[in-house]
Amino acid sequence: MLGCCQTRRSEMSSESVKTFSSLETPGYVGFANLPNQVHRKSVKKGFEFTLMVVGESGLGKSTLVDSLFLTDLYSERVIPDAVEKAKQTVKLDASTVEIEERGVKLRLTVVDTPGYGDAIDNHDSFRAIIQYIDDQFERYLRDESGLNRRNIVDNRIHCCFYFISPFGHSLKPLDIEFMKQLHNKVNIVPVIAKADCLTKKEVLRLKKKIMEEIEANGIKIYPLPDCDSDEDDDYKEQVRQLKEAVPFAVCGANTLLEVKGRKVRGRQYPWGVIEVENPEHCDFIKLRTMLITHMQDLQEVTQEVHYENYRSERLAKGAPKKPVEGGAAPSASSNEKDRILLEKEAELRRMQEMLAKMQAQMQQTQNQ
Ligand code: GDP
Repeated sequence: MLGCCQTRRSEMSSESVKTFSSLETPGYVGFANLPNQVHRKSVKKGFEFTLMVVGESGLGKSTLVDSLFLTDLYSERVIPDAVEKAKQTVKLDASTVEIEERGVKLRLTVVDTPGYGDAIDNHDSFRAIIQYIDDQFERYLRDESGLNRRNIVDNRIHCCFYFISPFGHSLKPLDIEFMKQLHNKVNIVPVIAKADCLTKKEVLRLKKKIMEEIEANGIKIYPLPDCDSDEDDDYKEQVRQLKEAVPFAVCGANTLLEVKGRKVRGRQYPWGVIEVENPEHCDFIKLRTMLITHMQDLQEVTQEVHYENYRSERLAKGAPKKPVEGGAAPSASSNEKDRILLEKEAELRRMQEMLAKMQAQMQQTQNQ
């Protein structure tokens, strides 16, 4: 059973907070089973994870996210009509939900990208998303060099589910362009949406074609790490199956149906039920297993590869491209001020550390 409360942030609007009561949903997500080492740290502090979902509207993104985390992140969503969509640009919407499972807290932020792919020219879609990712890196960089480093909230995007339409024969130019522009900034996990619209054979064919195009276009999707040789065989087999399943062909549903006396999450069709959590029906469980068992790795790759790329580029340039919260680009003198401020903060930190050491020494001498 999940305890959950939710806050919703929007890039465009000022911060608004909303809470709602626990959802009485059976089953659990599985992050309580994170490896023990992470588990111990996370029990106290809670685990922070940010997932971005990108794909054309109507591909089932919201339904899948709610099914994955057994929550209701989109209860207040208003779906614009075609006229409104034509005028709209991509707007990034971050919702944070705190879920607790067997005493382990997960602070999950899901960043949605409504409006993506809706416009006739989609170049602005990329720009808005890239800017958002960079802003989170920039904020982290500033917090990291600031005084209060212990309490940094990590809002960097750790994983991006990229939704591919099941109706095409392969990737669209928009899909290729998006992944190419973003693969050096975020861990991209491609998923085929609404897999129940395809037969088993069609799923296999589409997966193969997508992977060929990903390779042909030099796109780097999130590489599931290889197993160490001393891992147990079950784990090795699980990782092999997960690697083989990419791009995950998923379906989502938030309705509980009864099938042969069992309660299942599924979609009722005139000819039968698609069970979301049945591995014979789709890769939902594989996608969830991948996310849960690789949460730490996704964070590490974000830190060690994507953030490091950003940080080194940013430090080489010596100035942020754009401020984190709106406003005009910083002038040379404000960059200089930033730098001096950072140096002062570092100096202050060193002095505080020295002071703490001296106090400890004095304490020791007094006790002797
Ligand atoms: P979003 O705009 O990408 O967030 O899409 P939604 O989650 O709002 O879903 C759009 C429509 O597709 C809704 O009518 C959903 O019920 C339906 N839908 C969601 N997931 C699936 C799925 O896996 N298979 C099918 N066939 N329909 C789905």
